[in-house]
Amino acid sequence: MPSDLHMHTAFSDGKFTPEELVAAAKAAGLKYIAITDHDTVEGIRHLYENGLYPSRGIHIIPGIEFHAHHPVQEIHILGYNIDIYHRDLADKLNEVTEARWTRFSEMVAKLRQEGYNINETDVLTLAGTSRAISRSHVGRVLVKKGYFPTVREAFSAVLEKGKSCYVPHFRLEPEDIISIIKRAGGIPVLAHPRMVHDDALVESLCQRGIEGLEVFYPKHDAADVRHYMEMAEKYHLLVTGGSDFHGFPTRYPAEVGVFTVEDKWAEKIFRVEKALG
Ligand SMILES: [Zn+2]
Ligand SMILES: [Zn+2]
Repeated sequence: MPSDLHMHTAFSDGKFTPEELVAAAKAAGLKYIAITDHDTVEGIRHLYENGLYPSRGIHIIPGIEFHAHHPVQEIHILGYNIDIYHRDLADKLNEVTEARWTRFSEMVAKLRQEGYNINETDVLTLAGTSRAISRSHVGRVLVKKGYFPTVREAFSAVLEKGKSCYVPHFRLEPEDIISIIKRAGGIPVLAHPRMVHDDALVESLCQRGIEGLEVFYPKHDAADVRHYMEMAEKYHLLVTGGSDFHGFPTRYPAEVGVFTVEDKWAEKIFRVEKALG
């Protein structure tokens, strides 16, 4: 049976609720899935605390995805098998969430100044359960209100770096993220290394406490997979992979189970004692 170690829910910027995601994964015959929402573990908490954490049929790995600070490149770090109740992790996530709120308010204020009729409630209504209000939520409201045909166009007109309504992110340093994941008992894994667009930086991260490399990813071609597999060997790292599932038809893969990895990779990071229920 196949597995998917990189999936988002409506608690960050995905479409599915955690229970919908688990149901879809079961229906697709997946054996292991990891829920890796941006900057939040609320989706996993929601499963744990509502008796929705399945005890049979599928294994769930509690995870998270952080964006790390870098002046130029996009560095995303996944954490697997984290203790979602760990105090230091909770403190750090509160810090990140608060910064997201500030950024989001500033973005809406700038848009209003530019004449866009948008307010915080519009964005919050659309964001629903999401604890990670982001530019994509703001972009979707602008599309819904008819200002732009697509989110992509809203980004390139006003929301992108260098454009009038852009507000810089608050980002944790890679070392901070790696350390917080480890303190919460988790495994830090560098997500989609190809998307970092700088292999020297990837190799330097491999030597700064990263314990795994996301070798299998929809945007990695066969040569990328070979290349990052070799890098994982060179630095004695775990190999992981996943679809980065968000559940929106415009982003591949649109369905659960379309892009999967072999179970053997999931088995290496799954720890039975961390699963509840
Ligand atoms: Zn990512
Ligand atoms: Zn992701």
